[in-house]
Amino acid sequence: MEKVVIIGTGCAGLTAALYTARANLTPLVLTGTMPGGLLTTTSIVENFPGFPEGIDGYELMTRLQKQAERFGARVQFGTVESVALSQPPFTLTVDGETLQTQTVIIASGAGHRHLGLSSEDLLEKKGVTYCATCDGALPLFRNQPLVVVGGGDSACEEATYLTRFASVVYLVHRRDSLRASKIMAERTLTHAKIKPIWDSVVTEILDVKQDKVTGVRLKNVKTNKETALDCAGVFVAIGHVPNTQLFKGVLDMDENGYIIPERGSATNVPGVFVAGDCSDHVYRQAVTAAGMGCAAAIDAERYLAGLNQ
Ligand SMILES: Cc1cc2nc3c(=O)[nH]c(=O)nc-3n(C[C@H](O)[C@H](O)[C@H](O)COP(=O)(O)OP(=O)(O)OC[C@H]3O[C@@H](n4cnc5c(N)ncnc54)[C@H](O)[C@@H]3O)c2cc1C
Repeated sequence: MEKVVIIGTGCAGLTAALYTARANLTPLVLTGTMPGGLLTTTSIVENFPGFPEGIDGYELMTRLQKQAERFGARVQFGTVESVALSQPPFTLTVDGETLQTQTVIIASGAGHRHLGLSSEDLLEKKGVTYCATCDGALPLFRNQPLVVVGGGDSACEEATYLTRFASVVYLVHRRDSLRASKIMAERTLTHAKIKPIWDSVVTEILDVKQDKVTGVRLKNVKTNKETALDCAGVFVAIGHVPNTQLFKGVLDMDENGYIIPERGSATNVPGVFVAGDCSDHVYRQAVTAAGMGCAAAIDAERYLAGLNQ
């Protein structure tokens, strides 16, 4: 029987691991398919407190894991496939094996939102991607025109990163101004290699017949005019979907699937706590996720202490 199982090893999960480990609860921490979480997909993190020169995202997460392990956290590669949370002890199925635990901290983050086009699915990994840092340097994108879809911080970061490799980066956004933070928007729009295409959506990614990306079909949402644009890659950066499908119908969520805590990090099921981007559609930052992980760990620790009184 575990005392604490933490689902996820992003900033939220690993911070919860650090705190529960230091409380002698020897948490079991499950990585899912993305050990280290979303921050491992970015190069330099400039806004995590304590690193005046910035720090590589992968390095930050590696350090955080080591810090939690130093106090007894057990990080295990594994994905939670199903949960039974109706009453404690809770049962989790992890890669076909079941385990039982007195408390669960859900820190499963949020995944990339898709455009919802069949051509997007058919050309995924053949020029359609969701991570510039992971794929931008691939030979097929070098010195080629590339398209980034989106208008938030992620889209700006992807577009700026891709200027290292691309001949030109078209930033396709459905509105006429960026949603990104001011500093990020300014940096993006003043970059010589980035060309914004406003008021436009991608209606099709070309060319499924050739089994590779050769361009996109765009529609101007104001004029309804359709155009084609040549490119070798499409980087989709239109936001996230919380990884909370496992908990549907059991935990209270908003209409987009973000888990709504009742008090602090406590969910509507006593003993189940939540932290990070899977319950936060507002801030979605490494430091806020880490802060929520800390809160969830303290809440779990107090809940366990209450059981033993
Ligand atoms: C390109 C990019 C750049 C960014 N740059 C910055 C930045 O500079 N500064 C900043 O503050 N923030 C930045 N962010 C945002 C930051 O990465 C997130 O806010 C943060 O990672 C959220 O942490 P999290 O722990 O909630 O979730 P995540 O980091 O998403 O981690 C979720 C974890 O849950 C695991 N998981 C999911 N489902 C399961 C399951 N069923 N079973 C087991 N495990 C599971 C995953 O494998 C992963 O380990 C950036 C994000 C992106 C995409």
